[in-house]
Amino acid sequence: MLCFLQKSLYRNLGEYERKIHGWGCLLDFELSAEQKMIVEAAKDIAKDFGPEYWREKDKKHEFPEDFWKSLIEAGFTGIVVPEKYGGGGMGMAEMVLAMETLASEGCGLAGEWFLCLSAVFGGLSISKHGSEAQEERYLPKIAKGLEFCLGLTEPDAGTNTLNISTAAVKKGGEYCVNGQKMFISGADRAKGMLLVARTTPIEKAAKRSLGLSLFLVDLPNPAVEIIPIDKHGINYSKTFEMYISDLKVPEDALLGELDKGWYHVLDTLNPERMSFSAASCGIGLLAIKKAVDYAKERKVFDAPIGSYQGVQFPLADAKAKIEAARLLNYKAALLFDKGLDCGAEANMAKVAAVDAGIGAVYHSMQAFGGYGYAVEYDVERWWREINLVRLAPVTHQMTLAFIGQHVLGLPKSY
Ligand SMILES: Cc1cc2nc3c(=O)[nH]c(=O)nc-3n(C[C@H](O)[C@H](O)[C@H](O)COP(=O)(O)OP(=O)(O)OC[C@H]3O[C@@H](n4cnc5c(N)ncnc54)[C@H](O)[C@@H]3O)c2cc1C
Repeated sequence: MLCFLQKSLYRNLGEYERKIHGWGCLLDFELSAEQKMIVEAAKDIAKDFGPEYWREKDKKHEFPEDFWKSLIEAGFTGIVVPEKYGGGGMGMAEMVLAMETLASEGCGLAGEWFLCLSAVFGGLSISKHGSEAQEERYLPKIAKGLEFCLGLTEPDAGTNTLNISTAAVKKGGEYCVNGQKMFISGADRAKGMLLVARTTPIEKAAKRSLGLSLFLVDLPNPAVEIIPIDKHGINYSKTFEMYISDLKVPEDALLGELDKGWYHVLDTLNPERMSFSAASCGIGLLAIKKAVDYAKERKVFDAPIGSYQGVQFPLADAKAKIEAARLLNYKAALLFDKGLDCGAEANMAKVAAVDAGIGAVYHSMQAFGGYGYAVEYDVERWWREINLVRLAPVTHQMTLAFIGQHVLGLPKSY
């Protein structure tokens, strides 16, 4: 009896999943009505922006205004904003589904990228740690598409985030900020920035992780100069060096508690990792799907190239690894939404998703042969986009170091 029930349950799961993604995956059976709507809405958006659109935006280095407008109109920038501020009142589980679907349906990293900037750096950070006044000021606007950016990375600190030297010094009722940031994405369009700065010098802090604070800074500001960095991919959005000189920030722009910014920003950085993992899995699924379609048709000897195990097995292997990474990433998102510790899962999901996504695009390119190198077939663009996830928002080595130390309990090497 149990066996029969299990069989019919699994058959239903398969049918449902094939409707959603065209592939088999267990967890999607558990999607709520709202989550199904998010997936369907993401598919609807993606339908309007085919490969030609993304090729052109990439080639012309042009911001995809129509796509961004569609995300706003569908309510995606407000997914994690509480309902009382005009948002969807949902969580990272829904955000991950939206980002993954946008990517798997053809939008590459773009959906994740823009939603991360606005909804995660802005919406989620303020929902988690904002005062009522900050929530009232920003959240309704974020739900309607106010753009944000994150000012964390610095040239001299890099991966050693606690070593940042941008300083916010209190003078009267305001802070005066000086310093330099590096790789700040979306800073040209952002109206708000989540800025991470030192409020207590590292040598005076009780421990290295104390003494950082978060600020909500309105942009543009004459005290904040930005210089674009030419980059490898994601050319429809710009990334900048940032010079901050005597920037005046009012006292009430402090987000959360003074000197506890590192602990607050983890509530942004873990969801950021989940966002990139979602996009990796999505791009990987897209790359596999396109390679499979191609490999069924393309014949150079007697049989389609997809029948040769040298082509077929790497795609099958990538598919299996992506489905495993998706499940781990959903788990990370569900833990975060329940207010539970999700650091281990967020980092492990990122390791799995980076390997799986990059592997999928790599083998997709191989299946396309020389055509994989041609712009017309899109794989080279996904390759340029997905390479970022090994480096940002956290490098692959640092996610492994986190797992080594915090999951396995091994000694820290640095
Ligand atoms: C396109 C793009 C967009 C970005 N957008 C933003 C943004 O919007 N906001 C923001 O704040 N930042 C942003 N970043 C910054 C990104 O998060 C950093 O580049 C990343 O964290 C790595 O820092 P780094 O480049 O200084 O590398 P480094 O710290 O110099 O590291 C160089 C290499 O050494 C390795 N390494 C360093 N220390 C160790 C160690 N102890 N053990 C093992 N390996 C180690 C690293 O893993 C890496 O491979 C962006 C970066 C890029 C490329």
